[in-house]
Amino acid sequence: MKIFLAGILAETNSFSSCPTGMGAFEEQGIRLNADSLEDPMGMLGAVKSVRRLAGEGRHTLVEGIIAAAQPLGPVVEPAYQWLKARLLSDLAAALPVDAIVLLLHGAMTSENCEDCEGDILEAVRQMAGPDAAIGVCLDPHCHFTERMRQRADILVAYKEYPHTDINASAEATAQLTLSAAAGRIQPAVGVFDCRMVGLWPTIQEPMKGFVEKMRSLEHEPDILSVSLGHGMAYGDVPEAGAKVWVITDNKPDLADRIARELGEELFLQREAIATPTVALAQVVGRLADWEDTRLLVLADIADNPGGGAQGDSTFILKELIERGIGRVALGGLWDPGAVQMAREAGVGARFRMRIGGKTGAVSGSPVDVVATVMRTLDEHSQDDFGARASLGPSAWVRTDAGLDVVLISRRQQVLGTDLFSGLGIELEALRGIVVKSMQHFRASFEPLIGEVLFVDTPGLMRSDFEAIPFVRRDLNYWPRVADPFGQS
Ligand SMILES: [Zn+2]
Repeated sequence: MKIFLAGILAETNSFSSCPTGMGAFEEQGIRLNADSLEDPMGMLGAVKSVRRLAGEGRHTLVEGIIAAAQPLGPVVEPAYQWLKARLLSDLAAALPVDAIVLLLHGAMTSENCEDCEGDILEAVRQMAGPDAAIGVCLDPHCHFTERMRQRADILVAYKEYPHTDINASAEATAQLTLSAAAGRIQPAVGVFDCRMVGLWPTIQEPMKGFVEKMRSLEHEPDILSVSLGHGMAYGDVPEAGAKVWVITDNKPDLADRIARELGEELFLQREAIATPTVALAQVVGRLADWEDTRLLVLADIADNPGGGAQGDSTFILKELIERGIGRVALGGLWDPGAVQMAREAGVGARFRMRIGGKTGAVSGSPVDVVATVMRTLDEHSQDDFGARASLGPSAWVRTDAGLDVVLISRRQQVLGTDLFSGLGIELEALRGIVVKSMQHFRASFEPLIGEVLFVDTPGLMRSDFEAIPFVRRDLNYWPRVADPFGQS
């Protein structure tokens, strides 16, 4: 069989005023074909999984464009149109194909399109014809839309958040797509809308058990795949929100029933799976008193670049400086200008610098601080689930009170411990760290963590989900409405 593989991944935070342009994709490195050495946001691992599967089955694999951008505001229209056109021209050159595997995020919007993935799938289906099997591997923070469902045969979301199972999910997607292409299965998809908005890490109970249950169901007769789309909480589109979908082998009623049962189970757990946040003054007090040898981690979830925030907010930084708390590291604070100043000043220089708070009111005010340049790097990077993620030119500066700040030039959530240690910061010597991240850092930091606190600060990724200023999606969801099912 002949398989076509391509992908466009971007996650839109509808409330960000910073557009996603071509530069955001180019920053990650765009894979134009199989010979490319680029690894946009670690997706090469998924590509290799599909390659291996194709090789084992002696299939022919044609690799088209794979592009990915850090989450931010809507994709500017010319960039979206260029990427889509490139994917389609790659497909046209590969036709005829039996199977198409697409790596899509699922929450991309452009200036003129609220459902880019549905739009791409529609164009791909039109071009490939009704007989080609189309499979899509999605991020769980996707908007599962009816348009997507109608154009694809197989839709699989990663199950884990942190996303530690991307490669396995890509392989499962390809496997099922090949089976559909060969006529061995007749995929039937059932969907249940949980009417919930939130963020639900899967490394602790009860979400951990929920994921295990999804996996075990996939071993039941006729059930091919079970996915939970958490939804992109800050994506303001009509079909946003958490959805469970199940693919069975030609058993639509079974797919509907299992999706409903799982979705209702998740809804019943809504209080237990909610992420509790702690007030800023309270967490800083905890940090000042922290004596455990392991780290107290303050997750700056409202300023998580992994969800489209800027990564330069100063609410926590300001509080730490005002209270003179040391033996704490904070990063990565996105401030290319401050990095440049630190590099010009040189290691050992102690001077007054203005850091953070540059991109808008949601980032707070810039902070003026006297700091010493401890180390600079022309090109810094961090571990990204086994791949490398560039942070650009970066600097480690230290305040007189002993607060270590990592300044970076490429927006990125904290993923690896080496965001800090790569500059020379000894994490073991600290009492705590502040990470611009929600969950993905945990995979790497776990052995060092004493406790994680989710800090309640203003920002683009506010944790009061009931107050997100949605305009395009309806407001009948939990936690905005106590019983969203009671109203219909
Ligand atoms: Zn995600």
